[in-house]
Formats: sequence, structure tokens, C-alpha cells
Amino acid sequence: MIAQCFLVTLSLVQSAAAFVAPRAASPFTASSHFHSPIPQLYAAAREVDCLVVGSGVSGSSLAFNLVKNHDVDTLMVERNEVVGGNLISKENEEGFVWEEGPNSFQPTPYISRLVHELGITKDLVLADGSLPRFVYWQGEGAGAKLANLHALPTNLPGDLLDFNLLTWPGKIRAGLGAIGLIAPPPTDREESIREFVTRHLGAETFERVIDPFVSGVYAGDPDELAMKAALKKIHRLEGLGDLGPGLVSGAINRFKEIADEKTSNPPDPAWPTYKGGQLGSFRKGLQTLALAAEEYLGPERVMKNTPIDKVEKLPDGRFKVTVLKDDKPIEIIAKSVCLTSPTRVTCKVAADLVPAATRLAEVYSPPVASVTMAYKKEWFKELPGGTSREPLRGFGHLLPRKMGVRSLGTIWSSSLFPGRAPEGWELLLTYIGGARDKGIADLSEEEIYKQVDADNHEILLKSDAPSGKRIGIRVWQTAIPQYRKGHLEILDALEADEAKVPGFYLGGNYRTGFFFCCLW
Ligand SMILES: Cc1cc2nc3c(=O)[nH]c(=O)nc-3n(C[C@H](O)[C@H](O)[C@H](O)COP(=O)(O)OP(=O)(O)OC[C@H]3O[C@@H](n4cnc5c(N)ncnc54)[C@H](O)[C@@H]3O)c2cc1C
Repeated sequence: MIAQCFLVTLSLVQSAAAFVAPRAASPFTASSHFHSPIPQLYAAAREVDCLVVGSGVSGSSLAFNLVKNHDVDTLMVERNEVVGGNLISKENEEGFVWEEGPNSFQPTPYISRLVHELGITKDLVLADGSLPRFVYWQGEGAGAKLANLHALPTNLPGDLLDFNLLTWPGKIRAGLGAIGLIAPPPTDREESIREFVTRHLGAETFERVIDPFVSGVYAGDPDELAMKAALKKIHRLEGLGDLGPGLVSGAINRFKEIADEKTSNPPDPAWPTYKGGQLGSFRKGLQTLALAAEEYLGPERVMKNTPIDKVEKLPDGRFKVTVLKDDKPIEIIAKSVCLTSPTRVTCKVAADLVPAATRLAEVYSPPVASVTMAYKKEWFKELPGGTSREPLRGFGHLLPRKMGVRSLGTIWSSSLFPGRAPEGWELLLTYIGGARDKGIADLSEEEIYKQVDADNHEILLKSDAPSGKRIGIRVWQTAIPQYRKGHLEILDALEADEAKVPGFYLGGNYRTGFFFCCLW
């Protein structure tokens, strides 16, 4: 899996580390590696080997890695007053702990290593990998399920026996497609996610399984998203198998690849271990990771409230970076610069050096609201696997657009990770909005809370249950970069232009994959 991720952040570490010389005795003196005299104009400016812009998961882990493992004199600048970027973890005096951005990550060897090196293994929490993921669906030939919540199969083929979200014709169509009885891909255009999945597994599987996944996880429009760009690991399966183009055949070979990767590159036994299907976070939430990196780097290597304004290339090959501190410009001279800022910033800041960066303005990021609400345990209706003491047992539920519920999906936070809610309460995190519901950005927080509460009642709560307790809300105006048709062409242009400016690197979730685990 790791090999399939486009390891830009990891390669940023390697590229930046290789590009700059090892640190000189004082972290703030210019390295003797540079023979050209420092122009007087810049003599007063702070000089570093590497300037990392942005302190989200990409920037924090990159800066940490450069200092800890490559002895590179690094400075991280961040526009906000706290580090973490999208990682925004909160807690209140009542004992609720919640996320306003991402809620969990899929562990990988690289994350395990990072967690170990940051010294936060004790804070790591791993969700039970067997917790079911539900899809809410009723009618149209699907079988009956408690609360209309259908658990997606995780143990194959056993779980298929009880899986009645699909009709028999739908299952047969999916089965035949999975073993390779499919039409060839189109040659005249990029295939959308809807087209690819329908060609492989049929319209019903698309509508009931993949559509809610694309909405709930990517906040995306499956007609707009390019399969090859957005779900490249699944797209690749079509050409990977020895037994035809079916996804099953590709998956068999992919499992072999994964086993080989594990054998040839075994994880260090000191790193925290995890099992397939588990999801990770930290006791106090995901921001723990960025905060731990900040603590390691120390105040002299982290400048907050300091947005980057512009970058220029100097005649000696270094970069003059202007950042703003209290609205006053400060110059930093860096041998290398790694921008991990979002597309809307990078498209402007990098444009002079990497002309193709202007095309990042074409990458659409839709609005999404993340809404956290709490409900007393006794307010829940009977749910699959639940008991009166623990009414929620699952990862959460996804909502196919066809069901007409406005929310995209809800994470059952207090079922997933320990310590998220005080005794007697359950905590839910709902995402709402996305590429097919841009109007969410026009609603007030009050209206969004009401909508989410109504949706939670429809799916999970007893008819007489009171309104939920409002814990936290954040409306992301530009949430998640969409890998739409044409995205790979933008990335190719970016790569070609970036290669012409040694020492200047662009990274982030518009390039490496949306998921946390793909950023390494
Ligand atoms: C609502 C939501 C839910 C998500 N859920 C999940 C999930 O469950 N699992 C998962 O794996 N992923 C999830 N993601 C995606 C994941 O959050 C991102 O892919 C990842 O956090 C991006 O990290 P990053 O460091 O690349 O970018 P960011 O977190 O965007 O960091 C960029 C940083 O650059 C800073 N910056 C901006 N402008 C400037 C400037 N001019 N100068 C200096 N600094 C600047 C920003 O303040 C920010 O700190 C979710 C995203 C959202 C929005």
C-alpha cells in the first residue's frame, strides 16, 4: 500500500536533505558548503538550510524528519497561531474530545516510525479493526436490517452470506465483473469513478456502496472525479492481475506485492504495531502529532503567525523568502524551500518560480462542515451490535445520495476511540456539504446544527429523543482538493517545472493523495 502512495513528503525529506549540506556548528550560521560570499543585502537575514512552509501533518512531519534524521538546519513557518493545519483537535471541561478536521488515519510503517520517533506511542489509540462500517439504505429490493444499517463485508467471503444491501441481480453483476467479465476501458477520455465502478461492478454496487464512500470520504462528485487520479490504487488493479482485468485478479497480485514489501522492508520492532483494518488517532486527537513535532523542534525552529509572502531565487542558487511577522516583512535566506501550503496559497507564492503552480488554482476544493454532537446513551434506538450500555458499536455510517439525507456520513467517535465522551454520553462527528452540496457554505452554523441533528435523529435516535448537545462545528470553505479529470495533467506540468528549480519543492494533499497515510 505504501508503495502505491505517491511519497512526495517522504521524497521531500530525501530531496531537501540531499540538497542541503549538514548543519554548521550554530544552527543559524550559513553553512561553509556555500562558497559564494553572502551579499551584504542579506547579511542580517536569518539563514537556514531548509525552510518548511506550513505546519500541517505534511510540514510538521517533514521539518521533524529533516532535523531528527538528517541533521538539516530547518525552520518551519506557519500562518496560524497554532500548528497542525487541518489537524484541529479539541476538548472541553465536560470531558468531550473531538476533531474538527480529519478524524483518523490508516496506520502505515511510516506513521508507526514517526509516532515512535516523536515519542508519542503512549498516546496512540487504535480502533478495533472489526468494528463494522454501515451504509444506510432502505427499500429498492435490499433486505431488511435493524435501523436500515447494512454492515459492509470485512471478512470475505463469510460476511457476504448476510450481506443483503445488494439485490441478487446486483450481486451477480458485481461478482461477474469482479472476476473479469467487463467491457474494456474507454480510450478517448479519462474515466470517472462512476464510469469505472459501473463498468466493473454494475450500477447497483456503485449507487449503494461506492457513491456513499465517495461522498462521505472525499466529499466528492463521482461523475467529476477521475478514477485514475482519485482512486489510483483500485484503478491500478485492472492491469495487475494474471487472470484477466477483474479487480479480484488484480487484488490477488497486489496482496503478493504487499507481502513482498513487508519482507524486504520489515518494520522496526520498536515501532508501534497494528493490524489490518485498524484506524489510528491519539488520546487527545490527531493534532497531538503536530504538537509533538513542534515541541521537538523548539521555538527557535517554529515561527507561528508568520505567513509566507513571496519567494525569490538568488544568484547564488539560494532562496530569499519574505514572511510577514506582525504584518512586517522579514527575510529568510534558505538553501531549500518546501511549500506544504494549500493549493490556493501555493498557486500564488510559487508561480514565479514554478509557472505551472498557477494551474493549482484549477483544483477545486468544495465546502464541508464537520459537526460534532453528543447524545445520551438511552436516546439511541436499537442498532446493529448495540446494547443498552453501549448502543453504538461501529465505525460509523455512510449515506448514499439516493436516500435523500443531507449529511454525508457520521463517524461514531465514542465507539471508535476511548475517552471521547464522558460517562453516559455518545459522541458523533458528521460531515455535511461537499461537491454535490455547495449550498452548505451559505447556511449559518445554527442551520447546519439543526440539519445534522435532524439527520442523526432519522438514522440513529428514538423518535422522542431530545435534540443533541452541540459540541463543535467548523465550516471548511475549501476542504478537500478534488482529483477531477485533468488533475494528473496538472501534476505532470508541476513536476516538470519544479524539476527546473533545484531546492524548491511543492507538497501536500493535492499531490500525494488526500489521505493522511499517503502524505509520506
Ligand atoms: C473536514 C476534513 C476531514 C478529513 N478527514 C480525513 C480523515 O479522516 N483521514 C485522513 O487521512 N484525511 C482526512 N482529511 C484530509 C487531511 O486532513 C489532509 O489531507 C491533511 O491533513 C493535509 O495536511 P497538509 O499538511 O498537507 O495540509 P494542511 O493541513 O492544509 O496544512 C497546510 C498548512 O499551511 C499553512 N499555511 C497556509 N498558508 C500559509 C502561508 N501563506 N504561510 C505559511 N503557512 C501557511 C496552513 O495554515 C496549514 O497549517 C480531511 C480533511 C478535511 C478538511
